[in-house]
Amino acid sequence: MTFTLQKALVPVDRGYSTVDVQVVDDRITAIAPNLEAIGTVVDCQNKLLLPGFVNAHTHSSEMWQRGAIRPVPLELWLAELYDFVPLEIEQIYLTALGTAVETLLSGGTSVVDHLVLIPGKEIETIATAVRAYKEVGIRAFIAPLIQDESLTAGVPSGGTEQEHDAYIRSTGATLALIQDAVNKFHNPSEGVYILVAPTGIQLCSDALFTGCVELSERYNLCRHSHLLETKAQVLLAQEKYGCSAVEHLKRLGYLSERTSLAHCVHLTDEDIAILAETQSTVVHNPLSNLRLGSGIAPILKYRQAGVNVSFGCDGSASNDSQDLLEAIKIGSLLHNVTDLDYQHWITPRQSVEMASFGGAKGLNVADELGSLTVGKKADFVLYDLTNLSLLPRTDPIGLLILGRPTQVVDSVWVNGKKIVGNGQVTSIDVDNLRKELFDRSQWVTNRQSQTLDEIEAHYRSVMGLSEKSGYS
Ligand SMILES: [Zn+2]
Repeated sequence: MTFTLQKALVPVDRGYSTVDVQVVDDRITAIAPNLEAIGTVVDCQNKLLLPGFVNAHTHSSEMWQRGAIRPVPLELWLAELYDFVPLEIEQIYLTALGTAVETLLSGGTSVVDHLVLIPGKEIETIATAVRAYKEVGIRAFIAPLIQDESLTAGVPSGGTEQEHDAYIRSTGATLALIQDAVNKFHNPSEGVYILVAPTGIQLCSDALFTGCVELSERYNLCRHSHLLETKAQVLLAQEKYGCSAVEHLKRLGYLSERTSLAHCVHLTDEDIAILAETQSTVVHNPLSNLRLGSGIAPILKYRQAGVNVSFGCDGSASNDSQDLLEAIKIGSLLHNVTDLDYQHWITPRQSVEMASFGGAKGLNVADELGSLTVGKKADFVLYDLTNLSLLPRTDPIGLLILGRPTQVVDSVWVNGKKIVGNGQVTSIDVDNLRKELFDRSQWVTNRQSQTLDEIEAHYRSVMGLSEKSGYS
């Protein structure tokens, strides 16, 4: 593919400049005003060109349950989520497509899918997500979600004796599964990356973490995990390790410049220093943190400490959408209430950089992606500045980040290939996707989670809440 974008508006220093961009194959070969037109010419007048954002943490198949789970904290929410988890391969396929489409239409060109695996069909689940993402053409970082402890082990014991069932699969079998997935699907040149991704300290043994470190080193894989999303996990880490979870992960060797950690809501100053020292990345998922009452991640502190931060939507059952621009807006504004010194607040241009370059850095691909730079991959997004929600004309990036942009993505290229044009995804049949999602679902009313009912009283007692009085 050879093409030239003509007269695109791009941010420079504090202002904007109108430039042409030449692309040959999958790379940007020149950026300057009035370049010679090579290949297909794309008129970009009155359009803003930005590097693609990274949806740096999500769980695609949660889309089947979006809007369905009542307002409860993570530990109870998870119990309900897993009681109704989709078990058909076709469901994995459809929501991977849906996640990709919503990410693309809100400025993303890459997605990190912390993919929930169907028990007994683990490799098939990964193969299906790979197929869906390749069909759409989005850059896919697939992080098969693994654990080796059963769900109830994720709630602190509060000093009481608790029995937990053994997990369905041994640690060794789980690591072998990931190795198999790497052999079969890890293919960065085709835009598919496999990550090691133990779900978090709450459900994973040390052996699983160290096994993942070994795989990561052997195959040069990025590492992903949830980290200290809730207060309950802080208590659990103390019970399990007698020290903070961050300290423990550092000792296990899990933290590194290619490690990205979702949430990081409850970290101490010492923990933050460890993230900075190990060059780990924090993935901020503000909507999920609000939805589950987890808290406000101390993002301004991370930035001041030099910790790289990117944005994620998190799964659609705790957000309940995959609108990256919405996550970026809330994730930028939320912190103004945590620090009186407005000079620490995140500016719209910084938000764009966190979402693009920060996202790429967290996935160890900042030399290839994350900015409009000659030599880098052609992963970028063109926004229509004549859209009503971006008018009247003021500061395009200010409007995009602080406003309520509606259907503003005009075109998207990933790896030099155009997959969105005139505001429509062109690589797959989105009308058919809508029909499939509609036909395979029904309105959810008043469903009851047995597991949630079973663990609720214990959760309330450990967290110092009054005895269960039920919902009205
Ligand atoms: Zn998550």
